[in-house]
Amino acid sequence: MQADLELFQKLSYKLVHHEKQNGVVKPIKAENLLKVMDLNLEDQGLDEERFEALLEDIVLSTPRTSTKLFFNQLFGGRNSKGTLGELLAVMLNNSMYTYKVGGPQVGIEKMIIAKVCDMLNFGENADGTFPPGGSMSNFMAMLMARDAYNRDIKFEGVSEKMIIYTSSTSHYSITKNAMFGGIGIQQIRFIESDKYGKMIPKALQEQIEEDLKEGLKPFFVNATAGTTVMGAFDDIHEIHEVTKLYDKLWLHVDGAYCGSVIFSEKYKHLVSGVEKADSFSFNAHKMLNVPLSCSILITKERHNLRHSFACEADYLYQTDSDDYNLGKTSLQCGRRNDALKFWTLWKSVGTKGLNQMVDQQFHLSEVARNYVRNHPDYELYSYEDSISVCFNYKNIDPKDLCNSLYEEGKLMVGYGEFRGTTFVRLVTINSNNQETDILNFFQVLETYVEEAKEELITI
Ligand SMILES: *Cc1c(COP(=O)(O)O)cnc(C)c1O
Repeated sequence: MQADLELFQKLSYKLVHHEKQNGVVKPIKAENLLKVMDLNLEDQGLDEERFEALLEDIVLSTPRTSTKLFFNQLFGGRNSKGTLGELLAVMLNNSMYTYKVGGPQVGIEKMIIAKVCDMLNFGENADGTFPPGGSMSNFMAMLMARDAYNRDIKFEGVSEKMIIYTSSTSHYSITKNAMFGGIGIQQIRFIESDKYGKMIPKALQEQIEEDLKEGLKPFFVNATAGTTVMGAFDDIHEIHEVTKLYDKLWLHVDGAYCGSVIFSEKYKHLVSGVEKADSFSFNAHKMLNVPLSCSILITKERHNLRHSFACEADYLYQTDSDDYNLGKTSLQCGRRNDALKFWTLWKSVGTKGLNQMVDQQFHLSEVARNYVRNHPDYELYSYEDSISVCFNYKNIDPKDLCNSLYEEGKLMVGYGEFRGTTFVRLVTINSNNQETDILNFFQVLETYVEEAKEELITI
């Protein structure tokens, strides 16, 4: 073990060193991967020297998500305290289903959940869990809504046409979850969104009325705090004004991307009204830069979590009360410890530190928007209060631009689409970044375009 820990440290230092030199690695074409790298598994093991060399090659050839040139998805940066917690969780290797096996780690998870319940003003019956990602948080919320609508469904199965409402710009997990949950994709109503990407509450109400007239069963409304492309916040107050008119219509707030604004005094107004929702989820591995994955789901009534997820198992639950046996409220059985890495970060920087991380991301987005606004070769598609900055440059096809930047090992950034327009989507999610890093992003992009002008496609 000692030798492998030393190897781990050696490889980690090497990686960090290489990351500083080169924020992006030139990608290996997927079809060539097995030709250039010995990933084959054989009867005989590898000797230590070749094993180490191969491992180093793999580590240094892997896409670098923690550098100042990675803007591709909704996570990034490497928070050292979060990483420390993650490494310790791996060393400890607990499973979070029982207090007997998790011990203090269970207390850590419960503390985070209790703090977040408080911050949301969800009242004393609130509780939560750490699902294996934001998609699964939405799934658990949908299952609770389904089972709260009809408490016999868990015995009898779904036998009615139950209807889900979500905006046309919401995350694709809503569709997947409708498939998994026995609801069916045809029962999803994608509600129109306005020019900012926010769900139009009036359109929601009209659709509910229409479905009720048809004898269908509305049960779940999903609002989004930070839509995946535009970073827009649905107006929770207005949506709640609609949902409260109907019996047993659950309101969930999917804050996977930007729900972490609850930690910011300045930006928590963006989820104002969240205290009226039935459930809320956010990904600490997005805005809070905790290592993947760290997702939290909170619900107002603990009994709903239990009704949908508790099952007896004598071979598992042998000590302590259910309050400490977290397997009674989780989706899976064996469950990794996603709480410690968030706790090590939170404990070390305090709630004030988390507040600063969130504010820094909005600050960086302002820097990026101002840059785009002040340079006539750019066109901006984003609005204030979003950490997604969407733009096009010199009429260059954004798909071609993003893919070329990736293939040439210059930058990692993706493109998105909204209302028929495709654009580059820069996400300022890495709070380790400074203004100069954002300006450098544009510099790298412009220099590349200057070099490659002839080859790039225009729109
Ligand atoms: C990222 C995201 C999700 C999915 O979270 P995963 O952890 O990737 O499963 C869901 N909803 C929104 C709005 C997201 O941005």
